[in-house]
Amino acid sequence: MAALFDRRGRSFRDLRISVTDRCNMRCDYCMPADVFDSNHDFLPRSDLLTFEEINEVVTSLIPHGLKKIRITGGEPLLRRDLDVLIRMLAKHPLDLALTTNGLLFPSRAVTLADAGLNRVTFSLDSLDPEIFEKITGKSGDSIHRIIDGIEMAVTLGLSPVRINSVIRRGVNEEDIERLIERFRHLPVALRFIEFMDVGNHNRWDLASVVPSEEIRRLVKDRWDIQQIPSLHTGQVAKHWSLDSDTGFEVGFISSVTEPFCGDCNRARLSADGHIYTCLFATSGHDLRPVLRNPDCLETITERFQKIWSDREDRYSELRAQPRSSTTIHLPRVEMSYIGG
Ligand code: SAM
Ligand code: SF4
Ligand code: SF4
Repeated sequence: MAALFDRRGRSFRDLRISVTDRCNMRCDYCMPADVFDSNHDFLPRSDLLTFEEINEVVTSLIPHGLKKIRITGGEPLLRRDLDVLIRMLAKHPLDLALTTNGLLFPSRAVTLADAGLNRVTFSLDSLDPEIFEKITGKSGDSIHRIIDGIEMAVTLGLSPVRINSVIRRGVNEEDIERLIERFRHLPVALRFIEFMDVGNHNRWDLASVVPSEEIRRLVKDRWDIQQIPSLHTGQVAKHWSLDSDTGFEVGFISSVTEPFCGDCNRARLSADGHIYTCLFATSGHDLRPVLRNPDCLETITERFQKIWSDREDRYSELRAQPRSSTTIHLPRVEMSYIGG
C-alpha cells in the first residue's frame, strides 16, 4: 500500500494507545484531585475497546506505515491482564513501548518483559518526598518503588529506558539537577518536558513553563554535554549525552517553546476507540461503529486512510500565534483520556 500522507505532507508512523482513563495518581497538572474526584464520570467498562479490538486496529494500520506503538493511559498498568494485550501486539513487527507512573511496575515487570514488551518510559517529576506528594497526591515513599521499577527495567533490557519529568516554575525546578545526579550512573534517558496546556483543568499558564533552553543552559553550566543526532523525523525529544560512560542521556521535549508539528506523525487511540490526530484535538473519530458492526462495509484501514488524509492539525505552532482563529479556545480532550 502507498505511504499515507496528511494535508501537510506528514506521513503516519506512531500510534499511542490509551487502555484506560483511570489513574492511581492525581498529578495536579494532569488530573487535579478536585476535578477528577469520586463524582468524575470515567468511561464505563463496556465502552472500552477489548484487547482483540485494539489488536484489530493495530493490524489494520500496519499497511499505512505504522512502526511504533506506545501503551499509555491514564495509568495503563491499572488495566487488568495488560500482559495479554502486550503478548498479542508483540506478534507484529513493531516497536512496542509502555509509559507508566511506575507505581505498579515492579510487580509486573517480569510478566510484561516475558510477554514481549520492548521498552518502558517512566514518569517521575520529583525526588523530594514532599514535592512528589504535593504533585501526585501519593506518599513520597512511593519514589523508592518507582526507582526500583526503573532499575528492574534496565536489568530486564527494556531499553532504552526513559524517565520523563515535567518541570514547572516554582514547583520542582530543584529536581533538574537532583534527577540528573540520581540517574546519571544508569543507562537511561532523562527527558525534561515543558508543561503543556493539554485538557481544560490543569490551570496552565505560560509563566509556569520552564523553557527547555533554560534547563539546557543550566545543565551545560555544570556538565559537558554533546547533542545526539535524531534517529528519524518525528522524534519529539532532542537528546544530549552527558560526560558519563554509562550511556546516560538528557532529553528535552519542548512542545511549547519549539513546536514540532511540522514532523508530527503520531495518532492516538483512546480507550473507547476514538482516533485523535492531535494531542490538542477537540474531537475524535469513533472507530467502534466499524469495529463492532459486522455489516459495516468499510474497513478500519479504509476509515483511517480518510482520517489521516484529512488531517491538518498543528496546534502547538498556532499557540504561538494567539490571534489566530483556531481551536485554541475550544474545550479539549483530557491528557488522561487520550494518553500522553
Ligand atoms: N500515567 C502514565 C504516566 O504518567 O506515565 C501515562 C499517561 S501520562 C498522561 C503520560 C505523560 O504525560 C506523563 O509523562 C506525564 O508527565 C505527561 N503529562 C501529563 N500532563 C502533562 C502536561 N500538562 N504537560 C506536559 N506533560 C504532561
Ligand atoms: Fe496519572 Fe500519568 Fe496523569 Fe499523573 S500524568 S495523573 S500518573 S495519567
Ligand atoms: Fe502533533 Fe498536535 Fe502536538 Fe502539533 S500540537 S506536535 S500536531 S500532537
